[in-house]
Amino acid sequence: MFAKSMIELGQKRSTIREIFEYGKRRAAEVGAENIYDFSIGNPSVPAPDSVREAVIDVLDTNGPVGSHSYTSAQGDADVRKAMADDLNRRFGTHFHADNFYMTVGAAAALSACFKALAEPEDEFIAIAPFFPEYRCFVEKGAGAKLVVVDADTSAFQIDFDKLSAAINAHTKAVIINSPNNPSGTIYSEETIQRLAELLTRKSKEFAHPIFLISDEPYRELVYGGLELPFVTKYYNNTFVCYSYSKSLSLPGERIGYILVPDEMDNAKEAYAAVCGAGRSLGYVNAPSLFQRVAAKCAGQTSDISIYEKSGNMLYEGLIKLGFTCVKPQGAFYLFPQSLEPDANAFCERAKKYDLLLVPGDDFGCPGHVRISYCVPTERIEKALPKFAELAAEYKR
Ligand code: PLP
Repeated sequence: MFAKSMIELGQKRSTIREIFEYGKRRAAEVGAENIYDFSIGNPSVPAPDSVREAVIDVLDTNGPVGSHSYTSAQGDADVRKAMADDLNRRFGTHFHADNFYMTVGAAAALSACFKALAEPEDEFIAIAPFFPEYRCFVEKGAGAKLVVVDADTSAFQIDFDKLSAAINAHTKAVIINSPNNPSGTIYSEETIQRLAELLTRKSKEFAHPIFLISDEPYRELVYGGLELPFVTKYYNNTFVCYSYSKSLSLPGERIGYILVPDEMDNAKEAYAAVCGAGRSLGYVNAPSLFQRVAAKCAGQTSDISIYEKSGNMLYEGLIKLGFTCVKPQGAFYLFPQSLEPDANAFCERAKKYDLLLVPGDDFGCPGHVRISYCVPTERIEKALPKFAELAAEYKR
């Protein structure tokens, strides 16, 4: 009577949500102050004051009707112009309003992109470790196939031999996510250049464009003075999926966009396909109030220095305890090796100390665990002795 695949999907929570729900139950038993919940990526740093001011300003300026009324399906034209102006100012690009389609966060941006691109038998490539929801969006949402390329676990850049071998005549797009959830690393300029060269070569070989989908909700969360290469400058056939969930700490407001550059092959058709995908999914008119708030606050961030401090503290603490981990460069995740080959067993053992960690298996990278450190810094200080007790079990 109902779609079987949807029932299955609806009945099964993601591993992250499963652990997060466990944490809530456990907090009710022993008190939230005794739980070290590193499971979910909910920003812990407050949204900047400018968000509150922008909300009030939008309400005052547009009134109780205009603030909440429908915009164009692809988003308000002035809002989309503000998105273009912000990127042009920061990255020296030449975008305009009609390169943008406003969405309900990065999740809807990705889903609409996959839908806009997918034809029967198409394959989308994710490079491990990757955000597990890609599988759901690609396979259940767009009816295409997700192909996973194994991780380069030494630095969490890209294993180009494996990526090259995975691309075939059915490949429609490669998905990248930098700064990365869950590894916390950033793709260097060299990695992006090599990727652009590979995709250009493969597009010629298979006589059709192989697109890049750049999932960028953590774009501004970059540490240690590093600069993130802006991907459309390296590869024309790039769709950018962006969200204000992390940069402005607004995950519940559900606001983001898809950027379709003019330089893309058949750019007008590509943009039309995005609009069609949005329409077919019912994703028209991203939330009106927060479209305008995002326009006013574009380019700002919440105080991300807090994440940098927390990440460094946790990284250094774990390294001292003997963990192997690539140093975080962005986002708010650490992805150390598990202290036993089975990361699920390790995460179960960590629960004994009320440390809630996520096994790397769903991210396509077994033997690792994700630690989401977007928690107050003092929680990390308190958690380190728990990690020490956990690590000690493996030294006995
Ligand atoms: N992509 C990645 C890599 C993420 O980590 C997330 C959320 O955590 C999303 C997409 C979805 O973001 P949004 O909240 O904007 O839908």
